[in-house]
Amino acid sequence: MSGRIDPGHIFNEEKEVHIMAVNVQELLAKVPTGLLINGEWRESSNGETFDVENPATGEIIATLASATEEDAVAALDAACAAEKGAGEHGWAATSPRERAEILRRAFELVTERADEFATLMTLEMGKPFAEALGEVKYGAEFLRWFAEETPRHYGRTLNMPEGALRMITRHKPVGPCLLITPWNFPLAMGTRKVAPAIAAGCTMVLKPARLTPLTSQYFAQTLMDAGLPAGVLNVVASKSASAISEPLMSDDRLRKVSFTGSTPVGQQLLAKASEKVLRTSMELGGNAPFIVFEDANMEQAVAGAMAAKMRNMGEACTAANRFFVHESVAEEFSTKFAAAMADLKLGNGLDEGTTCGPLIEQKAQDSVAELVEDALAKGARALTGGARGEGEGYFYQPTVLVDVPADARVAREEIFGPVAPIFTFSDEYEAYELANDTEYGLASYVFTENIDRLYRASDHLDFGLVGFNAGVISNAAAPFGGIKQSGMGREGGAEGIAEYSSVQYIGLRDP
Ligand code: NAD
Repeated sequence: MSGRIDPGHIFNEEKEVHIMAVNVQELLAKVPTGLLINGEWRESSNGETFDVENPATGEIIATLASATEEDAVAALDAACAAEKGAGEHGWAATSPRERAEILRRAFELVTERADEFATLMTLEMGKPFAEALGEVKYGAEFLRWFAEETPRHYGRTLNMPEGALRMITRHKPVGPCLLITPWNFPLAMGTRKVAPAIAAGCTMVLKPARLTPLTSQYFAQTLMDAGLPAGVLNVVASKSASAISEPLMSDDRLRKVSFTGSTPVGQQLLAKASEKVLRTSMELGGNAPFIVFEDANMEQAVAGAMAAKMRNMGEACTAANRFFVHESVAEEFSTKFAAAMADLKLGNGLDEGTTCGPLIEQKAQDSVAELVEDALAKGARALTGGARGEGEGYFYQPTVLVDVPADARVAREEIFGPVAPIFTFSDEYEAYELANDTEYGLASYVFTENIDRLYRASDHLDFGLVGFNAGVISNAAAPFGGIKQSGMGREGGAEGIAEYSSVQYIGLRDP
């Protein structure tokens, strides 16, 4: 593959990758099943475990230790001890170069183990293997990007405008962090938090999603193989999320919580964080508009729609959720988009040729089915799909809905599945108004050949990310994050490391 990737076509390119021959049983045997505390994998304090299921088959693929409150506190003890270390030799005092080199080695190891990580993600999350491999590349880039950022994260000096002082700023690690990740991008959501925390000199307790912990377990082992010292990263998978967040967020030693997940859970965590005035980064839900103007390049718009909607089976916070298409091109766009959706092959992500995997669990399949039934009952028509898929897994057919009334639930709620509702508009400003009519503000997409209109769109759209003629724009070098109820803070880019640093200002009397 060439170094250049066309953002509008990432989805299609990934589909061309062939499945590698990884022996699943040997791979699963390599993944640690314990809790990682102070560099050692151990059982939970009460011996409890939980199962991890393959959503394509319903089979149990692994059983992991389930951390208790006591284990969570032990993980924080380890993170605090590693931060300070003995004398001057704690993690917070390591040189930027030392941290950068660990990140760089981790990037190389994750890349070498790409087939294994991709297989694990397909097994526990369901995405097609080719897409999982795409996530390994994307996720690994955070390790490389922050390896490169680490030595460049320095403060500044200036003279006080009135004289009398020299002013110096320094970046210090914020301290021990709790990182909570979701199930939809099991590797990338971890690397996007862990890499900048390592770069800034923080120590961590990571709580991976209960549904997809295996990738995080193997990633943590890979970081240790790359030379990360004991206690810097501790991993506490658990069947009870609050068993981890409650004791740690009540503990004065914790300094930050970074969360990616749904807005309702983010709101609960923000309320809890206020008790100790914790630093927070919140990457929450989305309801992305995808606007197609009358002068759009139709091929590009359809390819962009496939990427923005179907990456991860629609289970992405950046997934296009509402399609607004100019009335003069609505029929052409809908017909071509529906044909491309109907061409996808639903199945087990480890089977050659699969281009759409199952949803994560029964609850997700039920919730998508209810949203579609609600829209159909209110007068929408399905151009393709509109029903659950066949088989043991939690499949849902790629679906395109037209004639969707404004009061259908799909117009307001995050779908998190392979369903595309299409609405029409007649005027440019009406499109912006419809797009902004949501409490969310994460991703948005605009397709037009008119450059002035693209810039007007970015002026008018209240979203943290805007794709111009591109359906996938996430990259380790870019600041990712939302506004409104999509959250606060940015991950990736130069902004990403700042989330894990505190600025200290030193005023020095001018001699
Ligand atoms: P979720 O909120 O149910 O869970 C996310 C994580 O939080 C999981 O690890 C879960 O175990 C944990 N959690 C749940 N309740 C908790 C509690 N009370 N205390 C502490 N931790 C708790 O979300 P999900 O279903 O895993 O993920 C889907 C959601 O995440 C969608 O809304 C999606 O838009 C959002 N998301 C956002 C981004 C982003 O960057 N903005 C990225 C991916 C997903």
